[in-house]
Amino acid sequence: MSEARPASTTAPGASAAPQRLPPEATGGVTQATMVKKSAPKTDYRPSDVSPQRRMQRRYTVRLWSVRHSRFLEWFYARFADAFLLLHPVWKKIGYGRVEAPVKFVEKRVKGFLFDCRMCGQCILSSTGMSCPMNCPKQLRNGPCGGVRANGNCEVEPDMPCVWVKAWEGSRNMVKGDAILAVQKPVDQSLRETSAWLRVTARAAAERESAGAGR
Ligand code: SF4
Repeated sequence: MSEARPASTTAPGASAAPQRLPPEATGGVTQATMVKKSAPKTDYRPSDVSPQRRMQRRYTVRLWSVRHSRFLEWFYARFADAFLLLHPVWKKIGYGRVEAPVKFVEKRVKGFLFDCRMCGQCILSSTGMSCPMNCPKQLRNGPCGGVRANGNCEVEPDMPCVWVKAWEGSRNMVKGDAILAVQKPVDQSLRETSAWLRVTARAAAERESAGAGR
């Protein structure tokens, strides 16, 4: 006579999911601690594996830029002047031809300093050098109503709210009150294009029309 076997709830061929025990059932020890303790011991012990520290490090350069918004405002004004001075060169070569190399540099430089998302309509000088496109909701006119009590984002709890930082950065800038200006919605067709060249070409056109009007 064959022995009776307990009925299985697992479908044939399917592997059983690991059973999760509540912390009370393991004497307050969590599953993560048990996994960590059972890991093989080796000579290599990473010095810093705190996910929180790792997240904070991710925002280090971005926050540096906000803290140095006044210097970056000054530098960006000089840089924009230099770019405008080169307008005849860009025009001779053709703005379309120089776009790829300029965009390549712009993406890397602004990506490093501001975590730029290349929206193509840069408003950093109006947002305290805190890029609004890093807001998970991509708000361009101030924060949503969900900023946490510690000033962090409601969607990404480890990330400081980009608009809280924008306000802090703007307070250091000479033209910081530009943050009060209402921004237009993002034109998605300008994504992945060079804001540097767009601003330069626009400034050159304004300069020429002002010269022609005299
Ligand atoms: S506003 Fe747009 S162009 Fe400026 S840093 Fe942010 S994503 Fe880049």
